[in-house]
Amino acid sequence: MTRQKSSSAAHRPSQGNRDFRNRIQRSGKSPGDQKNTPRGAPQIPTGSATAPSGILLKAGREKSLLRRHPWIFSGAIERVDGAPFSGDTLPVRDGAGNVLARAAYNPDSQISARVWSFSKTEKVDAEFFRGRIADALAARNGLNLARDSSGMRLIHAESDGLPGLIVDQYGDVLVMQIGSAGAERWRDTCADMLQECCKPACIYERSDSDSRALEGLEPRNGVLRGTLPDNVEVVENDLRFRVDVAAGQKTGFYLDQRDNRALTGTLAHDKDVLNCFCYTGGFSLYALRGGAKSVLSIDASGEALRIAAENLANNGLDSSRAEWLEADVFLALRTLRDQNRKFDLIILDPPKFAPTAAFAEKAARGYKDINLLAFKLLRPGGLLFTYSCSGGISEDLFQKIVAGAALDAGVDAQIVHYLHASADHPVLLSFPEGAYLKGLVLRVAQSVHAP
Ligand code: SAH
Repeated sequence: MTRQKSSSAAHRPSQGNRDFRNRIQRSGKSPGDQKNTPRGAPQIPTGSATAPSGILLKAGREKSLLRRHPWIFSGAIERVDGAPFSGDTLPVRDGAGNVLARAAYNPDSQISARVWSFSKTEKVDAEFFRGRIADALAARNGLNLARDSSGMRLIHAESDGLPGLIVDQYGDVLVMQIGSAGAERWRDTCADMLQECCKPACIYERSDSDSRALEGLEPRNGVLRGTLPDNVEVVENDLRFRVDVAAGQKTGFYLDQRDNRALTGTLAHDKDVLNCFCYTGGFSLYALRGGAKSVLSIDASGEALRIAAENLANNGLDSSRAEWLEADVFLALRTLRDQNRKFDLIILDPPKFAPTAAFAEKAARGYKDINLLAFKLLRPGGLLFTYSCSGGISEDLFQKIVAGAALDAGVDAQIVHYLHASADHPVLLSFPEGAYLKGLVLRVAQSVHAP
């Protein structure tokens, strides 16, 4: 799961290839024959069109598959036989002809295939999806989250063995987000299985993230099964949040921060809190319930702030301690600095600045900027909760960026917590890319560096 793109032009990630006109049609032509191949799309050599469909890897390029990593990049492919269509399940063979996996093919993506199964015998059919979905649901049941929360991530894509499929639960509404050609092909099967297993009032599809364009998929947003209730709400650790599944960000709510929000609540007592990139007020409400003296919350989205204020009222929290500001955080932090405002606890939970490593340098500048400003706004002994949900920024790099920001701000700081996404967003050990969200809680020292 990922944050919406930044609304700050200076930190806006590339839109990628949004040209849908050039998608491979069901023409029977092999992908290599297409004249209008999308800009940046891989050129995969095609073998015999009459041979059985399959992917042949270049010699030595099977290593990642043997480590059970589920992505096959275009550069690892020697050739594709047959005339497969985007979304077809194909056997993947090593140079010696051994079948290593069955994967969903996508000629429009840099990730040319995503593995459904590493088994030589497993068939990828409706029963396969029933089994994978049942496993994911059993894992969530085992977490006992339902005692305090009505929302959780039920299916976390690659990490649940279902590349490209995300399913979030908000009470009796499920929201599906499809981000791969393979999951797109099996969309209705998965919806049927979810309907059967979870019996929701509604399955809503929010397949409209920018990353779909990189897969050559058009955006889709609408009801898949049942009827969408007028008001969708999620209860999280006994706090109620309205979720706009149709127009909100991502699937409507950021479930990945559940545990981190709860931690903030336990540390906010009697503090002046600044919550940057607050969306619908998640961290703010926990801080207020935790006894914060004041909470200033900033977001660029007026609609998110409107829901945040509604959430505050619905939870009976004291609105006199809450202030909402619609602004660009990059500018607002400078204004607060110029006003000499100080806080005891600051949260920085920005959108994804770097979807891939290619954006890392620019993203690093953005992270350094906001962290440096936040360090300057903290009182001695204050706490900074700082996050990155960028797949293109490693945990190690993020820590280095934050360390650089502290140095330039002239403060010493200690890491008191290393944070990640909540347990309903598991990370498959063979798929480290699943660990997109990282956070640090830092306590700044009582004194600043001598000039
Ligand atoms: N912390 C939130 C999730 C944050 S998502 C939670 O717990 O629910 C990132 C948020 O950053 C979005 O609400 C988006 O509107 C906002 N945003 C993006 N760019 C921004 C900018 N430059 N200034 C202020 N807000 C921004």
